[in-house]
Amino acid sequence: MVSASSVRVRFCPSPTGNPHVGLVRTALFNWAFARHHGGTLVFRIEDTDAARDSEESYAQLLDSMRWLGFDWDEGPEVGGPHAPYRQSQRMDIYADVARKLQEGGFAYECFCTTEELDARRDAARKAGKPSGYDGKCRDLSAEQVAAYRAEGRTPIVRFRMPDTPITFTDLVRGELTFTPENVPDFGIVRANGAPLYTLVNPVDDALMEITHVLRGEDLLSSTPRQVALYAALGEIGVGNGTAPAFGHLPYVMGEGNKKLSKRDPQASLNLYRERGFLPEGLLNYLSLLGWSLSEDRDIFSIDEMVAAFDLTDVNANPARFDLKKCEAINATHLRALAPDEFVRRLVPFLFPGRSPSEAELDLLAKAAPLTQERMVVLGEVVGMLGFLFVQPENFHVDEADAAKVLTEEAKPVLAASIKALETLPDFTPDPIQATLREALVDGLGIKPKFAFTPLRVAVTGRRVSPPLFESMELLGRDETLRRLRAAL
Ligand code: GLU
Repeated sequence: MVSASSVRVRFCPSPTGNPHVGLVRTALFNWAFARHHGGTLVFRIEDTDAARDSEESYAQLLDSMRWLGFDWDEGPEVGGPHAPYRQSQRMDIYADVARKLQEGGFAYECFCTTEELDARRDAARKAGKPSGYDGKCRDLSAEQVAAYRAEGRTPIVRFRMPDTPITFTDLVRGELTFTPENVPDFGIVRANGAPLYTLVNPVDDALMEITHVLRGEDLLSSTPRQVALYAALGEIGVGNGTAPAFGHLPYVMGEGNKKLSKRDPQASLNLYRERGFLPEGLLNYLSLLGWSLSEDRDIFSIDEMVAAFDLTDVNANPARFDLKKCEAINATHLRALAPDEFVRRLVPFLFPGRSPSEAELDLLAKAAPLTQERMVVLGEVVGMLGFLFVQPENFHVDEADAAKVLTEEAKPVLAASIKALETLPDFTPDPIQATLREALVDGLGIKPKFAFTPLRVAVTGRRVSPPLFESMELLGRDETLRRLRAAL
């Protein structure tokens, strides 16, 4: 098996758009694998596509990694022996490698235009032949090259695939073989000189001495190319010529059993952050997309995952993203938080962009336990406890709830409650409950179910709220009475 500390894995996203859950799953498995083996996690930014990459997305990637609690041993902001870790800053390296590959005969200039390629591909398809690149420019003479140049053509650089099958053992899927007709020669440098993912990704894996490549199954088709490229890189002195071990993580399926696409709104990591998922809850759930701790335990900590994580347990079958299960797992982690930790996590949701006062924090510490058992995501706290923290002039009752509950019939209920609470000596939950029961249930003959709902709506603003009498106590007598009068 893998010996400790020799493990070097990488997480190498392209900074395009918002991070998505598939990407997080890949980061998680790499991180857990590195930590499990005491190895090294390299964080590399694959930003060679100037048209699609953005600085904003780069900043978001780093922020997301930190929010999730992932650390990296080499990469942006951390540095390391193979710096720089942003591919946009490594262009000289790629140009040099591309040149050496051509000098060594491992790559060649291809002058075919897109139209020519399309026409030949269509013809091959019609004839029932393999439709990949047909090798037309593989062995051009110096005269042919000169003639193409004279026509004003600018070449791309293509890698020369071996004419023999490529076989490798995938750590998740076992032995896989790709025949030459299925892996034609492929472009590694664009006509404008820009190196392509097909080149820069394996070049950096070789230079950064990556031992294991764990990535999504969608990249499986590029693996035979990379295996061949590795051998060529070894020949020109880049890396040691051995390909890393590859493990392709199973597809994640979304709604309707379609592959979860990064453009799927459900896939956006920000959505989960904004709703108030805990990183530990989300990671617990995402780890189950292709892996499990044991058959009878779905809930575990990240440390438990790291201790147990190995690739032999990764499942090749597609995994289904189940939002309900993700929420249930998050709720379990949320309930398990220590009270003061729970409060700490609620603060940014209740007081966005500002620090709460001592008094507000105090109130929150008292109110939070009323909600911890009922919450799925932290963002719910705004609806549940927001009524305690709004300024009187900003307090509003939910319109639909008011229309349903604060009707003519509610008037005597409100009036009797105000009267009872005005003079209550001890404004704490038990006496509040006792006096309201007496006034409404005994006094007015109203069933408890109907008696307390108008009060709940008047005081908390909603029909669904934390326990009513505790809420009144936390709000205080003056504000409680003010809201009851306002409702009346
Ligand atoms: N930058 C590539 C991507 O985001 C990385 C693929 C890989 O892991 O090899 O798809």
